Amino acid sequence: MTMASPIDTTLQGVVWKKTLGEEVLDHPHLRGEEVADLVVVGAGFCGLNIALHAAKAGLNVILLEAGRVGGGASGRNGGYNVPHFPGALAPSAVEKILGPKKGRALAELVVNGADAVFRQIDEYGISCSAEQKGWVQPAHSDASLQKVRKVHDEWKAFGAKVDWMSAADVADVLDASGYIGGWTNPTGGTVNPYSLCLGLARVCTSLGVRIFENSPVDGVIEDGDGTVVSAGKGRVRAPMAIFATNAYTGDFLPAVQRSVVPVYLYHVATKPLHGEAARTILPGRQCFTDLRKSGGFGRLDSDGRLISGGAVFAFGNKEAYGRRHALNRMKLLFPQLAKSGLELDDYWEGYCAVTDTFLPHVLRLGSNVFSVGGFSTRGVNLAQVLGRVVGEFAAGKIGLEDIPVDLLDERRDVAYWPIKARAARYIFPIYQIRDRLGLT
Ligand SMILES: Cc1cc2nc3c(=O)[nH]c(=O)nc-3n(C[C@H](O)[C@H](O)[C@H](O)COP(=O)(O)OP(=O)(O)OC[C@H]3O[C@@H](n4cnc5c(N)ncnc54)[C@H](O)[C@@H]3O)c2cc1C
Repeated sequence: MTMASPIDTTLQGVVWKKTLGEEVLDHPHLRGEEVADLVVVGAGFCGLNIALHAAKAGLNVILLEAGRVGGGASGRNGGYNVPHFPGALAPSAVEKILGPKKGRALAELVVNGADAVFRQIDEYGISCSAEQKGWVQPAHSDASLQKVRKVHDEWKAFGAKVDWMSAADVADVLDASGYIGGWTNPTGGTVNPYSLCLGLARVCTSLGVRIFENSPVDGVIEDGDGTVVSAGKGRVRAPMAIFATNAYTGDFLPAVQRSVVPVYLYHVATKPLHGEAARTILPGRQCFTDLRKSGGFGRLDSDGRLISGGAVFAFGNKEAYGRRHALNRMKLLFPQLAKSGLELDDYWEGYCAVTDTFLPHVLRLGSNVFSVGGFSTRGVNLAQVLGRVVGEFAAGKIGLEDIPVDLLDERRDVAYWPIKARAARYIFPIYQIRDRLGLT
């Protein structure tokens, strides 16, 4: 059985296509022989930022994409730009995993990352409904209150602009029910992630990056003259190749594919809210993500749709299951929705690459061939800011050791990968039970 994550070039059901501020440009597919200073594979947030920053530093860059720009996780995520690690991972835990120097450097990258993403959007005039209205991590249970308190206190000690919130503060800001406290970082916010990908691709092109779409890479070799990356009948020769193919790598590069678990997620969007719901829900347009394993998060899009989701339960009618779960969760969080006759509209799915540590890594595949991935649910921030750092490395501005993540010098598969990759599609009901029992 193949565990390849299918590449959907149409972004089926993705709500972001309804509010695009950037044009969908067609890029040719790779034919014949090309030469570059750097070849980047994968046109998601990571690959686009590697290409952009390497080109900005003067490299001649080619970017190869199997489907369409933004067609992977980057164009179909929730668009939450979060200045924090996944879940309740605190800076001290990250320092334990990476050591004090890299751990601190990664924490700095993350805590300043959301702001850096908004600044880059501004710098290049990318039209992606960017709203820096703040992000909230509320607590839904006693167990989660303790965890979010610890995370808040650590970020505060780190010098981050964070504020503790009482239950009343959370209710004021979100108008959501059931939260007993939380914290906020005002540098977070939301984007239309597909529009952002299209805008980044436009900027890349203006900096001279040659983008080839519908060009799935199927080979990479190093010879005495550098690296040759092939996609069908096309080939690119360059001194360095970097793969940013995330959970969409498929079977072609098992070392990359198996270094992360492809977690299968879905999102839904309501029709634009109206009446009392439109007036009261997220009145300041902040976004929030709690610690529920079965999904407790919400944001509005630029037309006032409420967007949330969870993990796909890939058994039976997965769309019907996901819609039912999301509808119940939205009504639980926002009881006023029941009165306004809530209707769900869009539903879409995508794969998110998660590592054992919930932190991304760089994997060496050859002397000058690397892959970068494993951004978990924080790619809007981290895949972009780490992409920038990796682009600067490719341009020779910093060394490999200055990239503040684990550098895997040889293949390191996630333990029990075949089991975990399958379990990720069937575990959702267990998460729901753990949430209901207050264990998360
Ligand atoms: C439903 C969902 C919701 C999410 N919500 C959020 C959120 O709100 N906030 C947040 O921060 N993160 C979120 N995430 C995670 C975030 O989307 C990812 O961490 C991030 O997009 C990863 O970016 P990337 O560039 O590494 O990968 P991707 O965007 O997946 O890009 C990889 C690209 O590589 C291409 N590719 C693969 N194989 C080949 C090949 N052989 N040749 C050429 N190209 C290839 C793919 O087609 C794809 O376009 C979510 C993820 C999902 C799925």
